[in-house]
Order: sequence, then structure tokens, then C-alpha cells
Amino acid sequence: MLEADYIIVGAGTAGCVLADRLTACGRFTVLVLEAGPSDRRLPIQVPIGYGMSFFNPTVNWMYRTEPEPALADRSGYWPRGKVLGGSGSINAMVHVEGQPVDFADWEKAGDSGWSLEALSSYLDRASERIQGNDVSRDTHPLCVNFLAAGQQVGFHSEADLSRLGADGVGYFRIATRNGLRLSSARAYLRPAMRRSNLSVHVDVHANRIGFDGLRACEVHFSRAGSVHVARARREIILCAGSINSPKLLQLSGIGPASTLKANGIDVLRERSGVGRNLQDHLCIDHLYRSRLPTLNQQFGSISGKIFAGLRYLLFRSGPLALSVNQAGGFVRSRPGLAAPNMQLYFSPLSYTRTPPGTRPLMRPDIFPGFLLSAQPCRPTSRGFLEIASADPAAAPRIVPNSLATDHDVSELLEGSRLLRQLAATPALRDVIETELMPGSGIQSDAEMFADIQKRATTVYHPVSTCRMGHDPDTDVVDQSLCVHGVERLRVVDASIFPSIPSGNTNAPTLMVAEKGADLILGKSGLR
Ligand SMILES: Cc1cc2nc3c(=O)[nH]c(=O)nc-3n(C[C@H](O)[C@H](O)[C@H](O)COP(=O)(O)OP(=O)(O)OC[C@H]3O[C@@H](n4cnc5c(N)ncnc54)[C@H](O)[C@@H]3O)c2cc1C
Repeated sequence: MLEADYIIVGAGTAGCVLADRLTACGRFTVLVLEAGPSDRRLPIQVPIGYGMSFFNPTVNWMYRTEPEPALADRSGYWPRGKVLGGSGSINAMVHVEGQPVDFADWEKAGDSGWSLEALSSYLDRASERIQGNDVSRDTHPLCVNFLAAGQQVGFHSEADLSRLGADGVGYFRIATRNGLRLSSARAYLRPAMRRSNLSVHVDVHANRIGFDGLRACEVHFSRAGSVHVARARREIILCAGSINSPKLLQLSGIGPASTLKANGIDVLRERSGVGRNLQDHLCIDHLYRSRLPTLNQQFGSISGKIFAGLRYLLFRSGPLALSVNQAGGFVRSRPGLAAPNMQLYFSPLSYTRTPPGTRPLMRPDIFPGFLLSAQPCRPTSRGFLEIASADPAAAPRIVPNSLATDHDVSELLEGSRLLRQLAATPALRDVIETELMPGSGIQSDAEMFADIQKRATTVYHPVSTCRMGHDPDTDVVDQSLCVHGVERLRVVDASIFPSIPSGNTNAPTLMVAEKGADLILGKSGLR
């Protein structure tokens, strides 16, 4: 039987950080159980390859939401990484720390160890391993038009969109090093795997946690069709992400009693917050046909592909070394706001005509096209997820409850209007041949909202399904990230966020994992 001091379930963004930090002192043995395979694959290591992981079931859980009434009954597609590095191995690599205002709630949900000052020191510590890499010299020339458009609308120019409190438009920095993706698997796990006290098992699916009374002591897992048990001498730490950590708790008898009973699971601890409070970022894209060539021409021609490929092979640079989200910003969509409320993206590429279920970034639209996108930073709608079966292999039922609040509706409308404002600036209007989507026929608020309902999509940032907080009736983990009401079981991943941060969620997940490691090791903090 496998046995270790600590068992980490899930080697994603957070799990890889913990595997490194908990083994560094040499005092403890750590066992990592990861459902997916190794990340040593070209589409994961080469930055632009994430287009290929987007619908690849070998490395992606490929979840779907329930049909959403507020989104014209569409069922959303929710990719999640199932591979060493987790979603950090299949994501778009945009590296942002967020806004100070994001963390105002966190200290209330935790304690002084979760203050902005404490958290920013953990962001700093994470940035010693994974930073936003400045790739602006490789970006498409049309980014310059987007940045000028932002300034013509009145936004600042922001030299570092990664920094906490970024304000204005600029180039995104991305998590790469030497032209290769820099996931936490590469930055934390690989170096730690040289240690004899760390053992990492891939292609191993954790089914449930086993308890001795209320003390978590073992993980039941499947490997190649048979079921095994691994024992933890000290603790079990769930790092399975915002969908699978609450799912595992529910499968283990911790969750809303009605859900557990409906699926024939014995209730170990009634915890109605498990799977609740789900938050996510919703985004609207406007698509333009361009008068100037975009990456569509480069990726759409054999000579362009050869050139991009050679540039990458020889210099590890060019569009293959980038995300398609090349520029963007954190801006205010209306005057008088204390902090930016809108994240913008500029992508010098479009792939609207590819069949559903594919996203080959290297086979984009045949015409020159680009995208402007707006994503409200701090939505207030909250959804939920719950198991739909006692079968650990079955996907949970995900109900995002998007656009459930007036705040979220009006901010997405403002975002859509802001994209029109940017497109109308001298810097962009001359390069735009036509607005293809939503199109000039869409003008009134009602028409714009109908367009949002038809087309708005997630940008893949689900959080808060095992929310940290003091109230065992509504929250799942306490300020030490221990699951309320049971012993020796923690959750350390994006599911514990008390609320969604303004921007992309990978850097804040690294921050939570750095903090979690100190909590587990009994260290009081960095300052
Ligand atoms: C397509 C996409 C694009 C994104 N783009 C960006 C971006 O550009 N910038 C950014 O900051 N963020 C981005 N994100 C979000 C970011 O990657 C996530 O917020 C972050 O990776 C979450 O980390 P985590 O540790 O909570 O979970 P994950 O990284 O998802 O890790 C969970 C791990 O647990 C494993 N696991 C789950 N269940 C089990 C089980 N039962 N047994 C064993 N193992 C299990 C999974 O396979 C996975 O490896 C994106 C996400 C996606 C999917």
C-alpha cells in the first residue's frame, strides 16, 4: 500500500507548488496523485500549442455546464487541465496578479494572515518562480493600434499589466521562459522530483477520501481499472481544482445532505457550502475584418507557417512563443470608479469559422481578422455544482448562474459599448474594414444584450466552490484551509478563493498555494 506523510490530490497549478514546498525541508514524505498524464508533450510546452489542448480529452476534463437560461440556453464549454501542471498546462499563460481591491474580502474571510500585505508577499514569493515574461517585442504590429486606441479613449498606458494594481492598457506578460510554457509543473514540480521524499503518480484517479471517524486518513483511487488505497500519516490535501475538489468532498460524504442522499452517499458531515458560491468571468468578443494582415494570414499560409516555425526553432520567438491574447488592459468602463472594473483583450487573430469542438489556432479564418474582448472584473453572480452520480468518473452538474444580477448585466453591456468606443477611435477605425460580430445592425441596449446572451463565453476562471470563511454552514474551509468539521483534510487551490479576483486566476492560485504551504508547515508567514 502507498503511504506518505502528506498526500496531495491533483498536480495542477496549486498542487505542484505544494509538492515542492512540503518536500524542501526533507522532514516529510509526500505522495502526489494526478489523474492525467505527464506534461512532456509539444502542445503543452510550445506556448501556442494550447489551441490543441483545448479539446484534447487526454489532457483535459472537457466539462460542460447545464444550459444557461440567461445565455440563450447554451451549455458552456469548461476545459480544465488533466495533466501535470493542471489547467496551468493548458491555459493561455496571461500572468496577472489582480487589483488590491480584490483581496479586501479575503482578510475578512480568513484572518490577518490573509491581509493584502501578507498576500502580496506571497505573490512576490510565487513570482520568484513564475513571472510574467515581457514578450512585447514579438507581438503583432496591430497591438500598437489597440494601445493607441486605448489612450485615445482616455486610458493610461500601463507598462506592466502583471503587477498588482495594474491600471491602463498595455502588453500582457505571459508565463513562459526561453520560449516554453512556464507552468508550476515546470517551475516547482520538476526540480522537486529529484528529491527522494517526493513520489508523483500520474494516470491515477482519486475516487474518494476515507476517514477514521472524522479524521481523513486515506485516498481511494483507480489506476488502470483497479482500485487501490493510499494512506496519509499526517494530512490529505485536495488540490483538484474548482470543479473536482468540491466533487471529491461530496463523493466522500461532505456536502449538502440532500445532494449526497439523492446520490446514495452516506453523510459524514453536512456542509451545504461544498460546491456553492461558484464564480467565473464572462467575456464578450467583437470580431473585426481587418484591412491589414493579421496572424490569420501568417498561420493560414504554408509559407507563413514555415517562417513562424523556423523563427521559433531558431530563436524561440515569434507568434508560436506567445499567447493569442497579446495586449489588453485593466480599465474603468465608467467614470468615478476607485479601481478598474473591466479587463480588455486584443487578439490579432480570429478563428470563428472552425467547426464546433475544434480550436486550431494555427488554422484561423481565411480573411484578415482580429478580436477585441471585454470581461467585467468582479461579477457578483454565484452558481453551484454538485455530483450527479456516485460514480467518481461521472462529470458533476455545473450551474454557473451567469448574469443573475443587474450589476453583471449592466457591466457586460458597458463592456460591449466600450469595445465599440475603442473601434471608433482614429487608431482603429481605419484598419477596420467591417465589424463582423455583433455587426452594425446591433445598436440598442436590447439588441446588444441579446447578442451577449447569444455569444458571451467564459474565460475559464471558475473559483470559490470550497470557499474560505468562518461559517461552517456556508463556507467550506477555515483560515488555515482545513475543511470545517473534519480533521487532517485541507483544500488548497482556486476553489478556496473567497471571491473572484479581477483578472486571470493562475497567479492568485500560486499565491494561495504558497500561503497554504506555510500554513501546513506551521510557518507564520513571510513578514
Ligand atoms: C483554457 C484555459 C485558459 C486559461 N487561461 C488563463 C490565463 O491565460 N491566465 C491565468 O491566469 N489563468 C488562466 N486560466 C485559469 C488558471 O489556469 C486556473 O485558475 C488555475 O490553473 C487553477 O489552478 P488549480 O490548482 O486550482 O487547478 P488545476 O490547475 O486545474 O489543477 C487541478 C489538478 O487536479 C487534477 N485532478 C482533478 N481531479 C482529480 C482526481 N479525482 N484525482 C487526481 N487528480 C485530479 C487535475 O487533473 C489537475 O491536474 C485558464 C484556464 C483554462 C482551462
